[in-house]
Amino acid sequence: MEITYLRVSVTDKCNLKCFYCRPEGLEFFEKEKLLSFEEIAKFVRALTKYGLRKVRITGGEPLLRKDIHILVRMLKEIDGVEDVSLTTNGITLSKHAEILKKNGLDRVNVSIDSLKPELFYKMTKGNLEDVLEGLREAKRVGLEPVKVNAVVIRGMNEDEALDFVEFAREYGVEVRFIEMMPLGQGLIQWDLDMVKPLDMIKRRIEEKYGKMVPSESIGSGAAKVYELPSLGVKIGFITPISNPFCDGCSKLRLTAEGSVKLCLRTDEEIPIKDVLRYGSEEEIDEFIRQILIEKERSNMEIQKSNYAFSECRRVMTSIGG
Ligand code: SAM
Repeated sequence: MEITYLRVSVTDKCNLKCFYCRPEGLEFFEKEKLLSFEEIAKFVRALTKYGLRKVRITGGEPLLRKDIHILVRMLKEIDGVEDVSLTTNGITLSKHAEILKKNGLDRVNVSIDSLKPELFYKMTKGNLEDVLEGLREAKRVGLEPVKVNAVVIRGMNEDEALDFVEFAREYGVEVRFIEMMPLGQGLIQWDLDMVKPLDMIKRRIEEKYGKMVPSESIGSGAAKVYELPSLGVKIGFITPISNPFCDGCSKLRLTAEGSVKLCLRTDEEIPIKDVLRYGSEEEIDEFIRQILIEKERSNMEIQKSNYAFSECRRVMTSIGG
C-alpha cells in the first residue's frame, strides 16, 4: 500500500479556544515529549520510499512552535517531497508568512469559521481582523492557493455560506466547508443535530450563483471541490458525516508526541517515537512496513463498520487537525 499524504502535528498548544475543538483546562505535553524536527524529518524521509509526496504541518497551532520555518526547510529538502503545506488559525500568520515562504512552504490553509467578528470571537475567542491580516499577507507573499476552512455548525454559522462565497471572490481564496466530526470533547457534546449537511449549503449556493462544476484542486483529496463559473471561485465540501470519503485512504497522521494515527474515526495509534529516536534506518523501515499493514487493515475495518466513528477520545488539538 502507498502512503502519499502525511499530516504532522508539531504542537498540541493553541492560541485560540474553539468551543468545539478544545476542552477547558487542557494540559499540554511537556516540551521534551514532542518530536524534534530531526525526528519528524526522519519519519518523512523514510515514508517517501512508500509513496509520500505531500506533507501538511498542523497542530494545535503550528505557528506556536519555535522556528517552524526550519522544519519547513528540512522537509522541503527531502527527495520525493513535492508539496509542503501548513494549516493555521492565522492569528500570527502575518508575522510568519514571509519567512515560511522563503524557506519553501508551498501553501497555507487558514481556518475561519465565521466572517462576523462577534460570532468569530464567540466561537474561537480570537480576533477576526488578525486572521484577515494573515490571509492578506499569505496572498502577498504567494503561499498559493490559499484555502479557507470553515466548520459549519447548525444554528451558528450555517447562514454564512453565501457570505463565504463572496469572501472567496474578494480575497482570491478557495473556501472549504467542513462538517463537524465527533472528536474529543470540546466545550460541547457532539450531536448529529449540530451537523449541517453540506449538500444543503451547496444547493443554496447554486440557487444564487448557478450550477457548480467539479474542479481539479491540489490537496489531500478529502474535499470535493467545485468551481463557480459565474464568479471564478472554487468551493470545497468536506463531508465526513454525510458522505464519508475513506475509500482508498492513503493518509497518515503523526501526533506531536510521536504516535502514528491511522484514521480520525478510531482511537488506534502506533507509538513511533522510540524507534525514531533510537532505531537504525532498517528498524524504522521495518516499523513503517508494519504501520502500512495496520493501515490497510484499518481501512478495511472502517469500510466494514460502514464508516462509523468509534470513540475517538483525543481532541483535535492533540491529533493534528
Ligand atoms: N490551529 C490550526 C487551525 O486552526 O487550522 C490547525 C489545527 S485545527 C485542529 C485544524 C482544523 O480542524 C481547524 O480548521 C478546525 O476547525 C478543525 N476541527 C477541529 N475540530 C473539529 C471537528 N470536531 N470537526 C471538524 N473539524 C474540526
